[in-house]
Amino acid sequence: MRRAVSESEPDAFPAELDAVFDALESAAIIAEGSRVLLSNDAAIALRLVWEKHLTSKELSLLAEESRARGQRISRELAIPWGDATRAVHAVAVPIPSSKRVVLLVTDIEESRRVEAVRRDFIANVSHELKTPVGAMLLLAEAIRDARDDPETLERFTERLHQEATRLSRLVKELLDLSRLQGGEPLPEMSEVAVTEIVSEALEPLKVRAESSGIQIDVSVSDELRVLGDRRQLVTAITNLVENAIAYSPSGSHVGIGAHLRVASEGRTVEISVSDSGIGIAPADQERIFERFYRVDAGRSRATGGTGLGLAIVKHIVHNHGGRISLWSKPGVGSTFTLHLPAPGT
Ligand code: ADP
Repeated sequence: MRRAVSESEPDAFPAELDAVFDALESAAIIAEGSRVLLSNDAAIALRLVWEKHLTSKELSLLAEESRARGQRISRELAIPWGDATRAVHAVAVPIPSSKRVVLLVTDIEESRRVEAVRRDFIANVSHELKTPVGAMLLLAEAIRDARDDPETLERFTERLHQEATRLSRLVKELLDLSRLQGGEPLPEMSEVAVTEIVSEALEPLKVRAESSGIQIDVSVSDELRVLGDRRQLVTAITNLVENAIAYSPSGSHVGIGAHLRVASEGRTVEISVSDSGIGIAPADQERIFERFYRVDAGRSRATGGTGLGLAIVKHIVHNHGGRISLWSKPGVGSTFTLHLPAPGT
């Protein structure tokens, strides 16, 4: 608690008020004009007070308006924050028979940001769902009209099946993502053999690799173990290998390797998936982990991608207290590496 009462009026505020200011999570200030008479730590943290004065012109004006009108006023303001501003909710209440005003200020910048991200996400999801649903509607109509033409009927039915598969995959990945993003408890961590995770991930992908003309080489020692949730780790490897297959030319190799790294910060297991495919330009390397971000939406769609695969992988490694790194060069290839805790760390 910081008291800014001048020496000439040491007992201007009772100790109870100090305690109330201390208990408040919002920034609390008693001001007279732009001069601060009393403030709590939250007001300092929000950088509202500097050398016993209010730093924000808008806040001073709000205090002045409330005093002049003799009324409580609540308003959203933008306070100075470095080179930018920060959104806050401020309430000003005049103290009767004085020139003083009580200010309560709450930081709403983070909730604003979360709200914006959520709005964006809903808009993206709706857009992504609209594409297959629209296609299915058109195909269903076309099928109805092609009743007497078996060849066309078969073609449209096949496409309807593809769109339904895309839709069901999108819904499944959205559910996976929302489960991983919070709400659900952290995974049950146990010791899992890396070879088991890798073979479980590869089993359903063998046919796809073969039909794309891609050979998968695995180099993982049998003893290597990782601390984690088996199901989630299988999903992470699956998504990385699916991408390696999808973004590589026929005739190329995809490599999966793993080893234990012992460093002063602890022991980590590094599992990497490498391809010699199209690669990713430096400007896209950060962004591909965002939900729905694709370098080439057309290509992603053609391979049945949803744009959610890497966002899911990122959440899985974070939930494990690990991280993901990427090396990539356009035209040369990419290596995604999962850094995960090793047992006994
Ligand atoms: P998608 O379902 O589109 O593959 P992801 O989230 O898995 O979505 O990947 C996002 C984007 O990152 C892809 O659309 C693609 O542009 C790029 N990408 C991912 N993996 C690779 C890779 N191995 N090689 C080249 N580009 C990749």
